[in-house]
Amino acid sequence: MKEIILAKYGEIALKGDNRRTFEDILVRNIKRRLKKLGSFSCDRRQSTVYIEPVSENISVDEAVEEVVKIFGIGAVQRCAVFPKDFGVVENNLDYLDDVLLGAKSFKVEAKRSDKSFPLKSPDIQQKLGDAVIDRFPHLKVDVHEPEVTVRLEIRDNGAYLSAKRITGQGGLPVGSSGKALLMLSGGIDSPVAGYMMAKRGLIVDCIHYISPPYTSDRARLKVEKLCEEMTEYCGDIRFFCVPFTEIQEKLRDNCPEEFFTVIMRRLMVKIANKICEREGYGAIITGESLAQVASQTLAAIECTNEAARFPVFRPVIGMDKIEITETARRIGTFETSIMPYEDCCTVFTPKHPRTKPKLNDILEAEGLADFDRMVDEAVEKTTVKRFRFGEKTVFLD
Ligand code: ATP
Ligand code: MG
Repeated sequence: MKEIILAKYGEIALKGDNRRTFEDILVRNIKRRLKKLGSFSCDRRQSTVYIEPVSENISVDEAVEEVVKIFGIGAVQRCAVFPKDFGVVENNLDYLDDVLLGAKSFKVEAKRSDKSFPLKSPDIQQKLGDAVIDRFPHLKVDVHEPEVTVRLEIRDNGAYLSAKRITGQGGLPVGSSGKALLMLSGGIDSPVAGYMMAKRGLIVDCIHYISPPYTSDRARLKVEKLCEEMTEYCGDIRFFCVPFTEIQEKLRDNCPEEFFTVIMRRLMVKIANKICEREGYGAIITGESLAQVASQTLAAIECTNEAARFPVFRPVIGMDKIEITETARRIGTFETSIMPYEDCCTVFTPKHPRTKPKLNDILEAEGLADFDRMVDEAVEKTTVKRFRFGEKTVFLD
């Protein structure tokens, strides 16, 4: 018996004229993702991509695990493929054992896209329902809220039987909305922010600011590890690492302490602006959550935002820490995020940061030192690395 995977569209199904573009990107992402497991054919029809193993010895379990992480897919369904002969399907209902033996109720849905098949959909539904009850007499039919839906689809090249459907990530395929630059710190919030924007179809690359020797090599490795983990959902990620020490020292030596954090954040944004311009990113993403800390009050965000020349996306702005943490656990970044390495934000942290800074005061304080040249220098000295989906290269003990 052969198994295949059906990837049902999420939001793409609602697209109009430009739907083809989204579908092309989705199929490309699926193929790229499954390449390491072998060769698959991807055939799309009726808001579904039919993912069929072509090479031998492919683990469908592993393939399903990958497919459920791809943005743009609303549900993943696993099916057995049989010849188009109702008798054969009936004799193979043991395929449904692991789902139906433990279930209480079911219904059948049948579809006949091959109109030459002698039974019509309602007849298939009726016959299959009877056959299922014969084999699993403990089951009740419930057409409104069944625990399991058994699906049989008669297509040109076979009969597809399934009872397993897993909810997908939803969203839009990565690469369908352009690309943006995520300010990635070592914390819990920014990887979640990156995940959320990749879900809206953005290619997410990362920028990280380091201040050696105040921040250690381990701290940088931790962030690289986060990038590696994010590739599970975001696909390949470019990682820009910006030397930030001199800027921070200059700030410490020249500006009032109570404004350190906001000015530092503005300088980070000014560097991000230049990288966006040079590399063609259309937006900056941050992990800011309103009022979580002093640098994220409305007044502080207003001051930081003023430095940005690109739209700034803050997808976790309205989430609380518990919600963000839940997502971080689900996407697999939490454990790395809580590793106790210092971030450059924790260097020179003011004891009493202003929670309601005024933009004029900030601009005046920032004018006490000439940061423009230093911003350009930091951009010039920025290094780039690429993290490819599926590669494990960063080791932390
Ligand atoms: P996170 O959990 O993402 O670290 P946080 O709650 O610690 O966030 P802050 O340290 O105030 O918050 O940082 C706010 C945002 O600024 C981060 O979510 C991130 O987008 C950006 N940021 C902070 N530090 C850095 C850094 N060293 N490199 C890149 N971006 C940073
Ligand atoms: Mg942080």
